[in-house]
Amino acid sequence: MQVVTLLGSTGSIGVSTLNVLAQHPDKYRIYALAANKSVDILFEQCKQFQPEVAVMLDPTAANSLAEKLKQAKISTEVLTGAQALDDVASAGIVDYVVAAIVGAAGLLPTLAAAKSAKHILLANKEALVMSGELFMREVESNGATLLPVDSEHNAIWQCLPVVGQQQYHFDDKGIRRIILTASGGPFRDYQINELEKVTPEQAVAHPNWSMGQKISVDSATMMNKGLEVIEAHWLFGLSNEQIDVVLHRQSIIHSMVDYVDGSVLAQMGNPDMRTPIANALAWPNRIDSGVKPLDLVEVGRLDFSKADYSHYPCLALAYQALEAGGTSTAILNAANEVAVAAFLQRQIKFTEIAVIIERVLSAQSASVVSDLEQVLADDATARQLATSFIN
Ligand code: NAD
Ligand code: MG
Repeated sequence: MQVVTLLGSTGSIGVSTLNVLAQHPDKYRIYALAANKSVDILFEQCKQFQPEVAVMLDPTAANSLAEKLKQAKISTEVLTGAQALDDVASAGIVDYVVAAIVGAAGLLPTLAAAKSAKHILLANKEALVMSGELFMREVESNGATLLPVDSEHNAIWQCLPVVGQQQYHFDDKGIRRIILTASGGPFRDYQINELEKVTPEQAVAHPNWSMGQKISVDSATMMNKGLEVIEAHWLFGLSNEQIDVVLHRQSIIHSMVDYVDGSVLAQMGNPDMRTPIANALAWPNRIDSGVKPLDLVEVGRLDFSKADYSHYPCLALAYQALEAGGTSTAILNAANEVAVAAFLQRQIKFTEIAVIIERVLSAQSASVVSDLEQVLADDATARQLATSFIN
């Protein structure tokens, strides 16, 4: 029986993870569920899964959850605050930590899991984008296991040669490059001059995947793919030139590895996050995920085209930040989080997201990633700058 802490249980990845876990009560037991402030959803999850601990970051939400659980005579202990997130991620009893908090907020508890040598199922790509070098060092020096849940990285992971316990050390294994696939988001068929007028409602309506709001907007701008390029750089130790992006509108091929002998290995499946979640949970074995089997005849065709930077300037900005190195990617991530939140609140236009990130990247000089404090300081400065450009 593996004991699991699920960070971000009330979100899209969290709910998909619980769906897979519920199919295998003989294999997994939940120790802790954690989220920000969605009391009603977390209460229902506590009823169903009876975790030992539930964390609500927000203290008022934690109080109302505790009250509801008491009335329902459910003995789950309720904790609150950032330290509680770290505690449930590093608790001695826990084997697996699913990192599914959105944004920079997920960094510290995910790092706590790395320091405690957990099996980390990483959905929270922002943690790696902010602190890749430090994060990978903590994983390796503490003997943690990092399993990618992001569908592209999970696909690459599945197509890599197995080397020992972990697959991500593959310096000289004949890999030419990896190819991350991108659906192109809801505006892929729009003319560039039409992008100014798109609304948050249109941006979060992804054609192939059902996801949280922030990552849905990131998919529409393709910053999501940019963050994934950076994520792949750290996860698999690849240079920027070895990471390509191709548009693939059906989202059936989740990514590919191109080998020097001309072989290209692809991982395919219906677009449903329960596949990479189940893969990471069971690795190196396989378990049922509940995902509909792929019927290629029904799919009919797979299309590919070039990702055009003039349509997706955020993708170019992410490559530039990776090239610049140091805390540039943390600055990129912070400016993006602020700009996306402002777009969702109708303070800026869709096309201004990239403009604000670009302004922050050119106004702020990046630092060498010496320690976590430096990363967090540059993240904070980038947020202030982005906010000042919005107001
Ligand atoms: P979501 O918005 O649906 O859910 C976010 C979760 O994080 C919620 O449970 C929320 O309560 C929690 N949360 C937010 N802020 C928090 C805080 N400060 N402290 C504690 N908990 C907090 O997001 P999602 O779509 O599930 O995405 C989660 C992460 O997974 C993101 O990093 C995203 O990039 C990544 N991801 C998502 C998908 C997907 O299909 N949804 C695919 C690949 C990667
Ligand atoms: Mg992805």
